[in-house]
Amino acid sequence: MIKFHFELPELGYQFGDLAPMMSQETISFHYGKHFRTYVDNLNQLVDGSKYEGLSIGELVRKAPDGPIANNAGQVFNHTLFFEQLTPARDAKHPTGEFLFLIEQSFGSFEQMIEQLDKAASSFFGSGWTFLAMNDAGELKILSLPNGDNPLRYELTPLLAIDVWEHAYYLDYQNRRKDYLKNLWLLINWHVVSGRIV
Ligand code: MN
Repeated sequence: MIKFHFELPELGYQFGDLAPMMSQETISFHYGKHFRTYVDNLNQLVDGSKYEGLSIGELVRKAPDGPIANNAGQVFNHTLFFEQLTPARDAKHPTGEFLFLIEQSFGSFEQMIEQLDKAASSFFGSGWTFLAMNDAGELKILSLPNGDNPLRYELTPLLAIDVWEHAYYLDYQNRRKDYLKNLWLLINWHVVSGRIV
């Protein structure tokens, strides 16, 4: 009997709310099928193993390279991804201390987006581009393959951009740049800044 430790997070929006930047069909496949499969796989892999009982963050940090690390990373990354989205009409701009940090690290919010966009559009293959923070409170941009995560490099992930083709293929086919251009309109920066610990 499998104990289900991990679940899909509830979304603060309906599947169709992010259209036309991200269609209902894309969310229904990406969240409802791809993400669900990672959650189901992780539950089955962890159940009865020495990793049972660990939180998702502990699994991401501690599991050696292999199926548990891959699925835990994908569960963690997709949770970040879907929770940070909001319908374009509600999208927020960074403010306060977070905006100050962005300006210190990148010059301006617009320059940060430009650098994130460049990193995400030029990353080869399947993976993720992150905005992350180090222990000194500095913001960093990094891209990692497959289901890897900044937690494994002692960085706190703040923003996670999915550049696997399954994230955009139904709406944009192979046009990752067009997906990214519209994705920036859906980011809730209040959620992103709330991840600073
Ligand atoms: Mn994905």
